[in-house]
Amino acid sequence: MDAQSLAARLKTSGLLRSQGLIGGKWVDAYDGKTVKVHNPATGEVITEVPCMGSRETKDAISSANDAFQSWSKVTAAERSRHLRKWYDLLISHKEELGQLITLEQGKPLKEAIGEVGYGASFIEFFSEEAKRVYGDIIPAPLADRRLFVLKQPVGVVGAITPWNFPLAMITRKVGPALACGCTVVIKPSELTPLTALAAAELSLQAGIPPGAVNVVMGKASDIGDSLLESSQVRKITFTGSTAVGKKLMAGAAATVKKLSLELGGNAPCIVFDDADVDVAVKGTLAAKFRNSGQTCVCANRVIVQEGIYERFATAFSKAVQNLQVGDGFSEGITQGPLINEAALHKVESFVEDAISKGAKILLGGRRHSLGRTFYEPTVMGDVKSDMLISREEVFGPVAPLLRFRTEEEAIHMANDTNAGLAAYIFTSNVQRTWRVTEALEYGLVGVNEGIVSTEVAPFGGVKQSGLGREGSKYGIDEYLELKYVCLGNMEH
Ligand code: ADP
Repeated sequence: MDAQSLAARLKTSGLLRSQGLIGGKWVDAYDGKTVKVHNPATGEVITEVPCMGSRETKDAISSANDAFQSWSKVTAAERSRHLRKWYDLLISHKEELGQLITLEQGKPLKEAIGEVGYGASFIEFFSEEAKRVYGDIIPAPLADRRLFVLKQPVGVVGAITPWNFPLAMITRKVGPALACGCTVVIKPSELTPLTALAAAELSLQAGIPPGAVNVVMGKASDIGDSLLESSQVRKITFTGSTAVGKKLMAGAAATVKKLSLELGGNAPCIVFDDADVDVAVKGTLAAKFRNSGQTCVCANRVIVQEGIYERFATAFSKAVQNLQVGDGFSEGITQGPLINEAALHKVESFVEDAISKGAKILLGGRRHSLGRTFYEPTVMGDVKSDMLISREEVFGPVAPLLRFRTEEEAIHMANDTNAGLAAYIFTSNVQRTWRVTEALEYGLVGVNEGIVSTEVAPFGGVKQSGLGREGSKYGIDEYLELKYVCLGNMEH
């Protein structure tokens, strides 16, 4: 089935929505303006969504604030049941949600359906965690006192998300927020709002009360500013670029909001001489080329020890050559298009910069013959630390290989960046594993493994890669306040 008829079918089924969601009502922009949503594989317009701004955002905040009054007071068991129902609905619509993701984001359908499973897992996990938000009783220093700690939801949360995981970046935030009694105003990327809207529709079907989940999209900075300015919004949770994250951090100061930031990475993937080459190739391939290199945990620098460099480069290039590029709806495709022209230009300019400074193309290095924003899976050798591609995230299907001699040199190269999200190492030496993982200034480390994200583990970065953690038992703390209560005069 072609993409256009698929979109028509999703519209009929009620999952492809073209309006924002405020207080449980589907609404257009108040001035009627829209933005087009494109299929990046074909350039076709899938639909138009409202181009909203500050007025709609203020109403969404107000709805979320109203809903908070009751949602924060229902029992944890009730919130848990609603989240579980939402999870069940996400899973029972796995295929259609996957199709929506491929339509608006471009990733291969199999990978998109995988994202639905991963995205939904946060709702399942936090439906369970909802029941485990325990407080504390503290032994009192005075006999006539009792001290305890209550955990309470922070309040209305503004959740701003990017286009690379149209579902999972939302559920990872909204799951823990709703679980502990917060309500949310979601601002998905304008490039991929449809999956967010479908997920919101399913949240209503799950019985999550109107106003607990709101979705606005359109003028990013107007929406962002309204969320920042509002004193009802008590927390901003953001995944996206470091530049926008810094703006939000500065903006949040005016109302002293809680903040979680998942920003850009510059992941090193270190292959030691003692690595198993097959394991290193498989892991690096997965860490680099998932979502065509468009994730913040994608390997950005493949740092290879000189003794294994040639063998690794040959085996890795061979594996990369087997990747199938094309429309995500076609059978057997592993690499979809880049999200847009700007992404393509960034990749091209990074590759040109590296070549001009002495890097060698081992494979690819050009736009793909399919045209549009398709780029050939690329491997580059003789890359150096001062090249643009080593300094910044390429966010595309280009693997730069850098050479190193000693373990100390590898650690130095890996840490020589302001980013600190994910790192990967490939080695069969246990002592080295401990030494290097302890020395890496990163929030996540994959050892002999290229795919490490899971709802049960804390995800987040250090240095300029962000603040806070998402997923796992730690993730819910980001949406809770501690209240210390001192009960005195016990002896009367
Ligand atoms: P990316 O390069 O991954 O698109 P961005 O940081 O530009 O990263 O976008 C991530 C999210 O932040 C998107 O939803 C985008 O619309 C939003 N965004 C961009 N600029 C602002 C802003 N000034 N205020 C609030 N949100 C913004």
